[in-house]
Amino acid sequence: MTETFTGSFTQQEPIPQAGIEAAMAVLNHGRLHRYNTHGDEIAETALLEEEFAALTGAKYCLAVASGGYAMTTALRACGVGHGDRVLTNAFTLAPVPGAIAAVGATPVFVGVTDNLLIDLDDLAAKLDQAQVLLLSHMRGHICDMEALMALCDAAGVTVIEDCAHTMGAHWNGTPSGRWGKFGCYSTQTYKHVNSGEGGLLIGDDAEAMARAIMLSGSYMLFERHRAAPPPETFAQIKYETPNISGRMDNLRAAILRPQLADLQTQCDRWNALYRVVEGGLRDTPGLTLTHRPAAEGFVASSFQFLLLDWPAEAVQRVIQGCFRRGVELKWFGGSEPAGFTSRYDSWRYAAPDPLPQSDRILAGIIDMRLPLTFTPEDCALIARIIRDEVEKAFSTRQS
Ligand SMILES: *Cc1c(COP(=O)(O)O)cnc(C)c1O
Repeated sequence: MTETFTGSFTQQEPIPQAGIEAAMAVLNHGRLHRYNTHGDEIAETALLEEEFAALTGAKYCLAVASGGYAMTTALRACGVGHGDRVLTNAFTLAPVPGAIAAVGATPVFVGVTDNLLIDLDDLAAKLDQAQVLLLSHMRGHICDMEALMALCDAAGVTVIEDCAHTMGAHWNGTPSGRWGKFGCYSTQTYKHVNSGEGGLLIGDDAEAMARAIMLSGSYMLFERHRAAPPPETFAQIKYETPNISGRMDNLRAAILRPQLADLQTQCDRWNALYRVVEGGLRDTPGLTLTHRPAAEGFVASSFQFLLLDWPAEAVQRVIQGCFRRGVELKWFGGSEPAGFTSRYDSWRYAAPDPLPQSDRILAGIIDMRLPLTFTPEDCALIARIIRDEVEKAFSTRQS
C-alpha cells in the first residue's frame, strides 16, 4: 500500500487563549499605539521588551515591525550605510541580503558547508572586505560561535545575528542572539512565536541600542521603554538619529507575551518532532543528514537533508513523488527562485561572485517545515514517505 499524508505544512497552532484574551483587552481599550498609555499604565510593548530581555539575558530589547526591520535597524545603529560592504551567508533567505541593500550597502556572500553552516574558512578569507557580518543562523543551524567570534573579534568585524530561526536556541549555553552586538528576531507567522508580523532586537551596547530606539520612531518618548538604556545615553543621540518608523504595537505585543512564556515547551515539542523525522531517515542510501554537535542547542522548526551530487532531474523526481503523497519539500537548488527558496545568485542586485563549493551544497539542500500542528505519528509517516521516494529515485538515479 502506498501511504499518503494529508496534513498542512503551513498550518500553525492557534494563538493561545491567554493571548486572545490579552488582545481583546487591548482592542477594548483601544490604546494600540505603544506610546498611547493611560496614567501609569505600562504598555504591552514595553512589557514584551522587558520579558524578552530577561528571557535572553540581554540588557536591552526593542520591539519592531518585522524581522527585516530589526536587521536594517541593527545595521544602521552599527553605522552601516551607503556604499559599505556587509558579509553575510550565501545560504539564507531573501530578507537578509535585502536588509543590507535597504541601507544602501552591498552583501558579500560567505559560503555554506555540508552541515549547512557558514564556512569559517571562507569567512576568514573575506574578513578584510567588510566591517560587519550579518550572520544568519539559517534554518536554525548554529556554527561554532566561539570560533566565529574569535575570527571576527580579531579582525575587528562587528557581528549582527539574524535569529529568525533560532529564538530559544543556544550555542554552548549562550543564547543565539547574545554573541554579536545585536540579535534580530522575527515574530511573523512562520517563526517561533506568531504575531502575524513583528520583530525583536536585543543587545548590551547602550549607545547602539539608543540609536536603534530613536531609529524605530520613538519620538522623544524613550523614557517610556523599560528594557532601554538610561535617558542620559540619548542626550546627543536624540539629535543625531533620524526617525525611520517601524514600531511594534500593543496588539501584537499582547499576543506575543503568553507565547514567550510557552517558548521552552514549544521548542521541546519541535525537537521531539525533529528526532522522529531524523530517526526515520537515518541510513537512507543517497540521503545525507546534517551532523549536529552537542554544543548546538537548536530548535528544529524545520528539517533539512541533502541529496548531494544528485542530478537535478532525480532530485525533482523525489520532490514530485513526495508531493503526490502529500509531503511538501522545498529545494534550494532550483535555478529559478520559487517561494522562499531563492539562491544567492538570484539576488542579482548584489552582483554576487560565484561560490562553486557552495553551489554543490545548495544544489542538494532539501527543506521541510515542521509545524507544531504535526504529531510524532505524522512525522514518522512523513519520514517513511520521503525514505521510500528517495530509495526509488536513488536506484534509478544514474539512468
Ligand atoms: C523570516 C526571516 C527573516 C525576516 O523576517 P520578517 O519578519 O519576515 O521580515 C530574516 N531572516 C530569515 C532567515 C528569515 O527566515
